[in-house]
Amino acid sequence: MVYLDNNATTPVDPAVAEKMSNFLKEHFGNPSTLYPIGRQVKEMITEAREMVAKALGAGRTEIVFTGSGTEADNFAIRGVLDAFPEKNEVIISAIEHPAIIETAHYLEKKGVKITYIPVDKYGTIYLDFLKDAITPQTALISIMQANNEIGTIQPIEEVCKVAKARGILVHTDAVQSFGKIDVSVNKLGVDLLSISAHKIYGPKGVGALYIRKGTNIWPLIYGGHQEREMRAGTENTVGIIGLGEAVRVLRERGDRDKKQVERLAEKLKKGIEDNIPRVKFNGHEKNRIKGTLNFAFLGLEAEAVLLALATKGIYVSTGSACSEGAEDVSHVLSAIGLKPEVARSCIRMSLGRFNTEEDIDLVLKELPEIVEKLREISGLEIDEED
Ligand SMILES: *Cc1c(COP(=O)(O)O)cnc(C)c1O
Repeated sequence: MVYLDNNATTPVDPAVAEKMSNFLKEHFGNPSTLYPIGRQVKEMITEAREMVAKALGAGRTEIVFTGSGTEADNFAIRGVLDAFPEKNEVIISAIEHPAIIETAHYLEKKGVKITYIPVDKYGTIYLDFLKDAITPQTALISIMQANNEIGTIQPIEEVCKVAKARGILVHTDAVQSFGKIDVSVNKLGVDLLSISAHKIYGPKGVGALYIRKGTNIWPLIYGGHQEREMRAGTENTVGIIGLGEAVRVLRERGDRDKKQVERLAEKLKKGIEDNIPRVKFNGHEKNRIKGTLNFAFLGLEAEAVLLALATKGIYVSTGSACSEGAEDVSHVLSAIGLKPEVARSCIRMSLGRFNTEEDIDLVLKELPEIVEKLREISGLEIDEED
């Protein structure tokens, strides 16, 4: 199997699997209890929290564990709006993950004004537009650090400078950037930042929200006193242990994943561009998480390419896994100006820690033939400009 869908989810690192399975066998205590088997689990959660905090350059008390990256995103936006009842405007980018976009749609139905910052053809937000969009009613700006479909990295430091000058809180969805580029919260200047374990070789169903000390935010979930009363419910202990270990492994590996992924992705990109006619690369050439490659195969239906690759054991995506099966085309590809028929021909290949040279060689052997065959049978013609 050649797995090239690491932006949808990553395989669990063996060290993480081992740590979680040992934990499950040895620890069942509730961390809220006062006797040793509970205290011990509480301590292990604290270690995981410290690990996450260190990776973000944050303090331990600034990390709240959540049930997913999606929950962290919901928490950030809805929690800040709850804390500022006199404000009713939120600014987001047009290319956010559904975890943010759909939260925004929900809030619009509740009367909140959402402003969507447009992006250029590379997927970079227009900062000037952002400056003009801010009003005294703006409660929060939420702009993702790196896009999951095309990989484009946003100028979060600049966003924070603009926001700070106006006294507005900034959240960034760093689910796709964490582990790939620098996410130091103080360097970025953000007040809130979301991460998810299963995008960094950890388990599914656990994430975290960084909340800068002193930030005015209300919980999303009410109940017991867990997570300093910011997220009620008995902790997903094994998940949190897994997230902590995944972060430890990230830190231990340093630049190794990044270098390897970058090299293999560059080889794959060049191979596709040199050997397949009528392809169009989507996203930013440089300012991108380098393992994300999104290509239009002009004249084809992406789904046909995906299925043909799957028969060869090569797994890719037609865009965002969250919009798979949806009728309309990706909002990200529309936002960068692709016509629907071009957007429908786009394939995302996202590399990760466990990809090898052989993986790339196999794709470069199979993909040109698949595209040629499909184009022969489709006979579909398409206008090639942009
Ligand atoms: C995957 C992803 C999410 C959602 O995280 P889950 O843990 O799967 O809920 C949010 N934002 C981005 C950019 C993502 O890639």
